[in-house]
Amino acid sequence: MVIDQASRAQDACHRCGGFMVPVEIREANTMGWRCVMCGEHVDPLILEHRRKMKEARELDRLRPRAAAATAPLN
Ligand SMILES: [Zn+2]
Repeated sequence: MVIDQASRAQDACHRCGGFMVPVEIREANTMGWRCVMCGEHVDPLILEHRRKMKEARELDRLRPRAAAATAPLN
């Protein structure tokens, strides 16, 4: 079941480490999670966006190193 898989991936709040409970997002007809400690809210769209931003940051981090590796030696 998709929800089982997703809730395993999001079992702790990224902000405070609190317990995340599944919540139904009626507007998007999907499931999200809410932190019982701080109220942080995530849904599949937010997670997808966060994942893309993380990938972009990692690419930015790798780019200068790759450029340096191919730079001609003096
Ligand atoms: Zn939290």
